[in-house]
Amino acid sequence: GCTAADVADALRAAARVVAEHRDELVRLDREIGDGDHGENLNRGFAALVSKLDENVPASPGGVLRLAATTLISTVGGAAGPLYGTAFLRAATSVGDAAELDAEAVAGALSAALEGVVARGKAEVGDKTMVDALTPAVVAARAAASGGVRDVLTAAAEAAEMGAESTVPLVARKGRASYLGERSAGHLDPGARSTSLLLRTFAGGAG
Ligand code: ADP
Ligand code: MG
Ligand code: MG
Repeated sequence: GCTAADVADALRAAARVVAEHRDELVRLDREIGDGDHGENLNRGFAALVSKLDENVPASPGGVLRLAATTLISTVGGAAGPLYGTAFLRAATSVGDAAELDAEAVAGALSAALEGVVARGKAEVGDKTMVDALTPAVVAARAAASGGVRDVLTAAAEAAEMGAESTVPLVARKGRASYLGERSAGHLDPGARSTSLLLRTFAGGAG
């Protein structure tokens, strides 16, 4: 099972990966947005690491809730409230369990997606993080009879393909939608960051 310490370690790893990919995310967001996605996420995850250095909450749900409140108050832009809501719904989904099994992790990912959709109203094909997270949830559910690692690996692989699928799309949500047809031919930065986060949670390199 996955403990509070495991979740905290995964979030610290995510902070390192976000820092390593900051410039890439900035570049992607410069092409179809305002160029701040890497900076926004890096600020948020750095703040989260500072909070975890002070104190790691006792349960996995508590760690996810700390991630949610920290990201909501520090990331800003469109992605801050969306990722914040994702972590908040994941926290609520796991409750105060001391350890998360594969079913709980798949359920948390599913709740995270529901939160992003409730908040941002994007559908698959709108060229957003939803295009990475939706196939990840489908794959996670299909792998839930295995272990936590199987769930996260399946989710990461599906998220990578989902993120790549945004390249030819015309954006219908967020800043990129202001570009209309000119948004086609570019990878969505939020879909890319979602696939990076899931790959990191699965224990792979960014
Ligand atoms: P901003 O666009 O405010 O500068 P960011 O650059 O941090 O915010 O994040 C942009 C990303 O947010 C996009 O690449 C997209 O994946 C995601 N996004 C924007 N609007 C929505 C939405 N309504 N639903 C889901 N994701 C969205
Ligand atoms: Mg931006
Ligand atoms: Mg912005």
